[in-house]
Amino acid sequence: MLKVKTFVFNAFQVNTYLVYAENKNCIIIDPACSNANEVSQLLNYIESQKLNPVLVANTHAHVDHILGNEDITSKLAIKLAAHPASHYFYLNALSFSAALGLNLGKVVMPDQELQDKDTIKLGDDELTILYTPGHADGSICFYSSTGNFVISGDLIFYGSIGRTDFPTGNFETLSASIKNKIYTLPNDTVIYPGHGPTTTVGFEKYNNPFVTI
Ligand SMILES: [Zn+2]
Ligand SMILES: [Zn+2]
Repeated sequence: MLKVKTFVFNAFQVNTYLVYAENKNCIIIDPACSNANEVSQLLNYIESQKLNPVLVANTHAHVDHILGNEDITSKLAIKLAAHPASHYFYLNALSFSAALGLNLGKVVMPDQELQDKDTIKLGDDELTILYTPGHADGSICFYSSTGNFVISGDLIFYGSIGRTDFPTGNFETLSASIKNKIYTLPNDTVIYPGHGPTTTVGFEKYNNPFVTI
């Protein structure tokens, strides 16, 4: 069964997730490392657990979620995967990072596409891509039915939802993504969000004040 290891990186407290299989193959989702120390934390863990990184992927391309793309893809010599609708954010990432006072350095463009219903094979398990726009175009979730979890990016948080006041954000779209793609998963599915603590589908369905069933 797939396991999830969480790191919290940079001034925006982004959750970086390492998902790994029993055969040690792993995928790094949103490497948000903003300095050498955070890069080392991630790489040291991979080395200490003898994991074999096969892919970096982004839930969406807001600058705080992509800060470590360059360091991690180059040091591990692996590809970067994202939804094609997020290209606008990669192309404008340097100006967004300057506005936020974040030091992005170099922007890596994705070299692998992830589309709705695509699967990423990891050992004997797989992650299914759910396309969930509303917070930002190109936003995706990574769902494991056997592991009983979903990595949701900034779509939904514990008792909250992603902001919809950034470019391409839209509340109706976000609400539809949550209702159609998240609230339809089993109630005990664990949600690993882009910021803050984990929650479950069932808890949010009945307690989230912003999007109710
Ligand atoms: Zn975001
Ligand atoms: Zn975020």
